[in-house]
Order: sequence, then C-alpha cells, then structure tokens
Amino acid sequence: MSVALVLFRRDLRLADNPALSAACASHARVLPVYVHAPEEEGDFPPGAASRWWLHHSLAALAGALRERQAGLHLARGPTLETLLALVAQSGATAVYWNRLYEPAAIARDTRLKSALQEQGIEVHSHPAALWCEPWRIATGQGGPYRVFSPYWRTLRAQLASEAPLPEPSLGEWREMNGALPLSSLGLLPDRPWDGGLAAAWRPGEAGAHELLDIFADDALADYAQVRDLPARHGTSRLSPHLHFGEISPRQIHHRLAARNERAGGRLDLEPYLRELGWREFAHHLLYHFPATPTTNFNPRMGDGLWEAPDAHSLARWQQGRTGIPLVDAGMRELWHTGWMHNRVRMIVASFLTKNLRQHWRHGAAWFWDTLVDADLANNTMGWQWVAGCGADAAPYFRVFNPVTQALRFDPQGRYLARWLPELAAAPAPLRHEPWKDPALLRRSGYPAPMVDLARSRQRALQAYRQVGG
Ligand code: FAD
Repeated sequence: MSVALVLFRRDLRLADNPALSAACASHARVLPVYVHAPEEEGDFPPGAASRWWLHHSLAALAGALRERQAGLHLARGPTLETLLALVAQSGATAVYWNRLYEPAAIARDTRLKSALQEQGIEVHSHPAALWCEPWRIATGQGGPYRVFSPYWRTLRAQLASEAPLPEPSLGEWREMNGALPLSSLGLLPDRPWDGGLAAAWRPGEAGAHELLDIFADDALADYAQVRDLPARHGTSRLSPHLHFGEISPRQIHHRLAARNERAGGRLDLEPYLRELGWREFAHHLLYHFPATPTTNFNPRMGDGLWEAPDAHSLARWQQGRTGIPLVDAGMRELWHTGWMHNRVRMIVASFLTKNLRQHWRHGAAWFWDTLVDADLANNTMGWQWVAGCGADAAPYFRVFNPVTQALRFDPQGRYLARWLPELAAAPAPLRHEPWKDPALLRRSGYPAPMVDLARSRQRALQAYRQVGG
C-alpha cells in the first residue's frame, strides 16, 4: 500500500487543497502532518495574535479530519528531521505540500526538498495560496512589475472563474507514534488577553466559508460604496482566513461569480477582485524584492526620513492614547479584535510615520504581533506604501489628516463611539475633535493630542523633501 505524507502549513483546509488532492489521487494512505517550526521562519515567526489564530485553526482542521475518520499528526520541528522520522515510521514514499512565498520559507523548502530527494523520497509541491504565482507574471521586458495598475491589468486578463477542487476522499488513515497534543505547541497566550479575539472570529475552514456566505449575501452588492466606512461591516474580513489558507482566492472568486449569476449578472465583482489583486501584487513584490520586509523598496527614500525610536510616542500609539480619535479608535480595535479596517490602517500608519516620524518598521512590527491577519507580503507593502518609500505611485507628500478622514468616512462618529467609550456620550462633532472642549477632556480622561497635526505635517513634508523628494 503506497503511503504519502501531506505537510500542512498555511493551507489549513480540505477543499481546494491541491497538495492534499494530488496525494489522495496517487496513494492509498495519506497522513496529514503539521510541524511547528517557528525558528525556520527567519526574522518573522508568527506573532502573538497569529499564534492564537493558528492554535484554533489547527484545532478546527484536526476536528474536520477526525469527522472523516482521519487525523492530523502534530509535531515540533526541525521540519526535516521530523519528516524523515515520520517517513521511516510510516513507510511513506512521498511528501506533498503547497508552496509558500516568504524568503525564509522558500529557502527552507528548497533545502527540505533536496534533502528528502537525496533520501529517495519523492517531493511534490503545488500552488494553492494565490491566483497566480509571483514568477508567472512579468512586464513586457520580462521583469517584475513595480506599479499595481499595469500588474492588475495583466493578471485580470488571465483570470477566469475556475471551479475549485472538491474535497478529496481521504482514504485509509493510521495514527503514527509521537504525535503531540495541540496545547504542547504553546500557541495560546499565558495571560488571557484573547477574549476579544474569541468573540470576533471563528478560525478554520468552516468559519471562512460562513464569512464568505455572509459577505456574498449581505455586503458584496454595496462593497464599492461602503468598503471605506469603518463603522460598517462592509468588507469581507476574510484576510486572516486567506492568510492561513483556510480559503483560497479561487474558491472566493467562484462563489462570488455564482452569486452574481443568481443575481442575473447585476453585481459588479471588479472592486472586490481588485482588492484580492493587491494581495497578489504584494506577493509578487515580496518574491522579487525579498529584502523589503526590512529595507525601503525605494532606495531614494533614506532612513533619515524618520527620527530615532521614541519609546514614549510608540507606546501611546500602540495603546490608542495619542489624543487623535480616529487613530486611537483604530489602535484599540486592533488590540481588542486583532484586526483593523483598511482605511484606518492607512491613517494610523500615516500618523506614526509622518506626524510622529517613527520608522515604518516599528509600526509593521506592532502589526505583526497584534494582527490576526499579519502577513509578510501585505504588511510590508501596506507600511511601505503609506510611509512613501514603497512600490507603486504613492506620493510621499500624502499625509492623511485623521480629522478630515474621520469626518468623511465616519461622519456620525459611530466607529469612534464604538472604540472610544469615554467619548461616546459627546456629540458627534466633538467626538471628532474633543480638544475643542477642554471640559470634555477633563471629564472623560481622554488625552489632549500628543502632536499638533498641522505643524507635524509640515515637519514631515520638509523632511521628505530634503531626504527623498
Ligand atoms: P476586503 O476589503 O474584504 O478585501 C478582500 C481581501 O483582499 C482581503 O482579505 C485581503 O486579503 C486582500 N486585500 C484587501 N486590501 C488589500 C491591500 N491593501 N493589500 C493587500 N491585500 C489586500 N492585509 C493583510 O492581510 N495582512 C497584513 O498584515 C496587512 N497589513 C497592512 C498594513 C497596512 C499599514 C495597511 C495600510 C494595510 C495592510 N493590509 C494587510 C491590507 C488590508 O488592510 C487588509 O487586507 C484588509 O483590511 C483586510 O480586511 P478584509 O478581509 O475585510 O478586506
């Protein structure tokens, strides 16, 4: 009986899982394995919120496998030694996995593949996370894209709504020795700060499809109109599910196209597909410019744009105590739920890198630890874009004004009231600018602004003009 191991990583789903389907098609016995090896992820092992998600996602996957009379073998790294031991124990002749695109993961997988092959073990790797792998798309000159719009035009022209792979039938399963209990991976926090996360999310494949259904039925039709309004549930919130591979872009595309067909073709899918296109672009950039998680994409923009790290300013930003309501609301949403609305991410990032002149890497590091969707490609592109040193045509002189942004995208101050309870009773105009009523600040304990928005904007523009403009 031929046996194969399927190594799960960030593809924690059973349906539309090319590695799992291929293994099931060719082997009578398929043994699903997860090897926890954060030390193999270079400078970017998963942060605290991601570890929380991972714990629950692995529990969901193991549960789904158990329901199908199978199981998930959990082990601790190093990956190579663990796989070799499992191969010896099970008599497996092949190992299957879906590909990852972060620089450390590529280097690790390359080593893994040749070491396994040297031992006579077949290795099969598959694409599962993206519509289009980063090296499959190139400019007319054959190089990588650096600007989103032409990249998206090329990718969009190739996209068809393909049917996803069905969940395979898993075949016979046998427990292997040495499996660890999930709790021993130590993914959950020692102190229970995760109540807000548990209330906001349902990690796992079933939770992903539930959210997709809600989005397709309730929000897709208005997506273009409401996606920028942080008080509304106008976006899909699929980002952590996509990051952990609990759902694929192909499944999303297919489901939305079916929904549109039911609506007689009246829905415009393009704005949403374009956002998934940004995710593809971020992976394209990370693959072709692997140093960008720590260095500026645009070398003309030097690190002199930012001041020395200021622990006090960073702490106030992290805690949502800057005295600028939209920034504080976003930072508290992040702390509480592990997620933040995209528009607000741009505003808090602009405030940190421009008004406070702190290096984007400090902001990216905080997001890395606190976001449940922390993703090296998306986070790096997002921070560099806002900081004005990234790819694409983001003008360095764009400094978001958090007050005008709040007036425009949260005019009634509902998002502010939700996350800043101390201002909730104040009338909406004062929620946007509480400093206009010193008595409100005294009464509520909400801080006065830590910087003058206009003056700090001018200082930032001056620095950007001198260093990079
Ligand atoms: P939707 O609007 O429903 O979009 C659908 C999907 O498209 C998202 O789930 C996401 O996978 C993708 N997407 C949407 N917008 C973007 C974008 N601008 N860039 C890349 N992909 C996008 N996204 C992450 O997934 N992980 C991160 O670590 C991350 N860090 C960010 C940091 C900054 C400073 C900024 C400005 C943005 C960051 N983003 C990140 C992008 C974006 O904010 C989130 O993907 C989005 O808010 C997720 O919510 P959603 O699933 O409801 O999005």
